[in-house]
Amino acid sequence: MKLLKDKILKDGKVINESILKVDSFLNHQIDGQLMKEIALEFKRRFENENITKVLTIEASGIAIAVMTSMAMDVPMLFAKKKVPSTMDTSIYTTKVFSFTKNIEYDICVAKEFLSPNDKVLVVDDFLANGHAALGLANLVKQSGAELVGIGIVVEKGFQNGRQLIEEQNIKLESLAIIKDLKNNKINLK
Ligand code: 5GP
Repeated sequence: MKLLKDKILKDGKVINESILKVDSFLNHQIDGQLMKEIALEFKRRFENENITKVLTIEASGIAIAVMTSMAMDVPMLFAKKKVPSTMDTSIYTTKVFSFTKNIEYDICVAKEFLSPNDKVLVVDDFLANGHAALGLANLVKQSGAELVGIGIVVEKGFQNGRQLIEEQNIKLESLAIIKDLKNNKINLK
């Protein structure tokens, strides 16, 4: 997706060899027009899949998922990072390891919002080692819904998220793939 790639090259900030900061258009300030194009691109890439719900994880995935769900005319659902109580039987929950914070945390969604009749598209801002995306896939699996695929805005191709997702035969579409972040430079595929 050229518009996104140009934006990454122009405004992305290399923090180190494994982290890219895109706070000016995706993770803090949000470029609505770019978000609209991202949503339309996901819609195009998952055409004819009869998606009934778009799922993401708070917080950075929400804007992407709202726009995508609007383009697809279906509801969006976000997994929460605050899990109520271990006795709560009305939620699906799983553990996710955070790449940026280096800690493990629980995520959950209410059972009432995911059913076996759903066909779910998972979207997220970044793909690194695949923990967030696979955590969301796990919630979908617990609900008995069908996971149609995973849509990622920025994939870091030098980490192993894609491999882990493809090993589970899940369709993965990334709108921009970073080859590496060496020498303080963004090298796109
Ligand atoms: P994963 O779970 O695939 O290891 O990491 C993906 C999650 O970590 C995303 O939800 C994203 O919020 C965060 N993340 C991973 N790598 C980066 C990065 O280079 N930049 C930013 N801004 N977030 C990242």
